[in-house]
Amino acid sequence: DHVANQIAAGEVVQRPASVVKELLENSIDAGAQNIQLYIKEAGKILIKVVDDGVGMSITDARLSFERHATSKITSAEDLFRLNTKGFRGEALASIAAIAHVELKTRRETEEVGTCIKIEGSHITSQEPSSTAKGTSISVKNLFYNIPARRNFLKSDTVEMRHIIDEFQRVALAHPKIAFSLIHNASELFQLPGSNYRQRITNILGGKTNEKLVPVNEETEIIKISGFVGKPEFAKRTRGEQFFFVNDRYIKSPYLNHAVTAAFEGLLKDKAYPSYFLYLTVDPGSIDINIHPTKTEIKFDDDHALYAILRSSIKHSLGQFNV
Ligand code: ADP
Ligand code: MG
Repeated sequence: DHVANQIAAGEVVQRPASVVKELLENSIDAGAQNIQLYIKEAGKILIKVVDDGVGMSITDARLSFERHATSKITSAEDLFRLNTKGFRGEALASIAAIAHVELKTRRETEEVGTCIKIEGSHITSQEPSSTAKGTSISVKNLFYNIPARRNFLKSDTVEMRHIIDEFQRVALAHPKIAFSLIHNASELFQLPGSNYRQRITNILGGKTNEKLVPVNEETEIIKISGFVGKPEFAKRTRGEQFFFVNDRYIKSPYLNHAVTAAFEGLLKDKAYPSYFLYLTVDPGSIDINIHPTKTEIKFDDDHALYAILRSSIKHSLGQFNV
């Protein structure tokens, strides 16, 4: 019900960037190849995601706003073998409880799509709509019915920084998918589908391409690919440090330490190496369910991962004579 949804929303939606993350992940789960993100006033007025994914039937469109309506898990066992980003069936219900939401969607096989409007968990209208194949979700006036939350939001600059961070993490994890980000009238990113190296360079710009050293390793328990930055390009901040596990951005102070250890003796004081590391592990060997926003993760064998990561980066740095 509405109250349960509002409570869940408090966990899932901390700020506009949380909505951005959930909507982008849903578009990816839907198999989209092109994803556009439109933002007005740092997400306080509008967050809109348009994708060309599989879309939803009329019934599924209504159901998508019910709590625990997920099309992604069919048994408890699936929880341990997650291939999709979503699995809680909580995001859309939570968002619809605290914003004005408009959903337009059409499946390829259907001629007419559907448009649903929801305010505070209640469907206010549903009608046929001639919309493109795929899904478009607009989230307006976030926290309109929770003034305390709305007042707690930071300046547009700060909220936009969080949105850009989420956008970049998702775009770095999925280089084959084309993404764009438009804030008010300005286009901040226009990223064509490409490969990892090109995506990283398109996002970070400047001399990124020439500073990347490839890292590649494959063992029984982990596959590592991606890049580290040459030591002389190390930053004064941690802004260019990214781990992805099974295509999902994660934070890991422990693995970060392994990377830093690989750079031992190569860095000046207070310098942070750049890294973009893509780890692939058996989904059964990790637990990503420990936090609602899913950026923390528990590995079965973290000591072994630490050692493998450290030595493969050392090896790569040595090979490139840096
Ligand atoms: P979850 O992603 O955990 O399943 P959500 O609340 O994020 O839960 O979404 C609920 C359901 O709505 C999804 O399982 C999916 O079936 C459908 N859905 C949401 N967004 C999209 C989209 N962009 N394209 C197609 N289906 C979607
Ligand atoms: Mg989801």
